[in-house]
Amino acid sequence: MERNLNRNITGMENLLEQYEDFLKQHVYPLEMEAIYGSFKATLPKLQELRQKAKDKGLFAPHLSLSEGGLGLSLQEFGRISETLGRSPLGHFIFNCQAPDIGNMELMHQFASQTLKERYLLPLQKGEIRSCFAMTEPEHAGSNPVHLSTTAVRIGDEYIINGHKWFTSSADGAAFTIVMAVTDPNNSNPYQRASMILVPLDNSGYHFVRNIPIMGDVGEDYMSHAEVKFIDCKVPVSNLIGEEGQGFALAQERLGPGRIHHCMRWIGICERAIELMCKRALSRMLDPGRPLAQQQTIQNWIAESVASVKASRLMVLATAKKIDEEGAKAAKEDISTIKFFVSDVLMKTLDRAIQVHGALGITDDTLLSFWYRHERGARIYDGPDEVHKTVLAKRVLKKYAES
Ligand SMILES: Cc1cc2nc3c(=O)[nH]c(=O)nc-3n(C[C@H](O)[C@H](O)[C@H](O)COP(=O)(O)OP(=O)(O)OC[C@H]3O[C@@H](n4cnc5c(N)ncnc54)[C@H](O)[C@@H]3O)c2cc1C
Repeated sequence: MERNLNRNITGMENLLEQYEDFLKQHVYPLEMEAIYGSFKATLPKLQELRQKAKDKGLFAPHLSLSEGGLGLSLQEFGRISETLGRSPLGHFIFNCQAPDIGNMELMHQFASQTLKERYLLPLQKGEIRSCFAMTEPEHAGSNPVHLSTTAVRIGDEYIINGHKWFTSSADGAAFTIVMAVTDPNNSNPYQRASMILVPLDNSGYHFVRNIPIMGDVGEDYMSHAEVKFIDCKVPVSNLIGEEGQGFALAQERLGPGRIHHCMRWIGICERAIELMCKRALSRMLDPGRPLAQQQTIQNWIAESVASVKASRLMVLATAKKIDEEGAKAAKEDISTIKFFVSDVLMKTLDRAIQVHGALGITDDTLLSFWYRHERGARIYDGPDEVHKTVLAKRVLKKYAES
């Protein structure tokens, strides 16, 4: 990927400041309306902001220079992701939101030129959105080798049949990348599935519903769908990569993805700490005696700040390793940050809510939105328990060998 190698520390700090200013000036004022009102109804205003971000040269920062992005390393993009994470709208405004960012990275590396022109280019420009359909309600997503969705090749077409759920942001998306079994008899279960692009105006694609998340059904980009493929025909040329490469590509997609998520979670923690401190200073237990004077509250603030600092260092060190040695070399570190930072996120949000008292569980602050929607952080991109096993096994192996 083409990178801007001339960026120095000052350049990076200036860039971060520009993103921070943009969020404060334009994005924060729209948050409550888009998050607790109607995301869809707020879309025209969000699109205006996306245009503003383009005009300022801040749009799609993760892309290479030749693709119109900023040519950042993963470490540099991680720092931007942290800043953008401070708002639930941050990544969306700058077109570097999951699942689109993962699909962009995947297609950039593995899609044919025709697919790139037809789908990747408009995705990069923010003209369309996409989704990723792998998980099935009938099978354990934490061991995705078991899939019932099939893609049978007949002539120049695949015929796809299957049932998926938690296809995030399918509502309003233009296409999905679906994981389907193409070689059910392959002795290697990791070589049975392939990734195939399906345009969502295909008559064989059926949107079933947006799945309510703790009472919030969501809509448009902010949603998780259940979908079906019934005799869904697509040209064989919609295959991404090679047949049977599905799981290998999924790993490619997830490595940098975990850096993006972890840094976004750190951004959420920072905003939660800010809300926690402001509330602790303004809430009076007696006249002139703010909540902030209580030692327990001070402990919560200190523990949150310390664990966020530790998280940032761990994630940036992992990003550096991926930049320098590739995702495979950083497997253990990627697993470590995934479960460590999601736990920091849960604890920090919980403490911030507790400091707010009853207000904390209302929808009058962003905390309840994050508490509801980020609980999934311990489940998606591999449940925490799976990542702990990966790490523990590697550590045990070292001792078994010695
Ligand atoms: C907010 C959100 C967004 C998502 N977006 C997408 C998306 O866009 N596309 C997509 O395809 N999927 C998506 N998913 C699905 C996600 O990938 C799966 O939920 C995840 O892989 C876990 O699978 P599962 O839900 O079937 O849980 P299961 O596999 O049934 O596991 C249930 C629980 O069992 C425990 N467990 C599992 N394996 C082990 C183990 N080896 N050792 C110990 N304990 C274990 C864990 O605690 C786990 O939470 C999303 C999920 C969420 C919550």
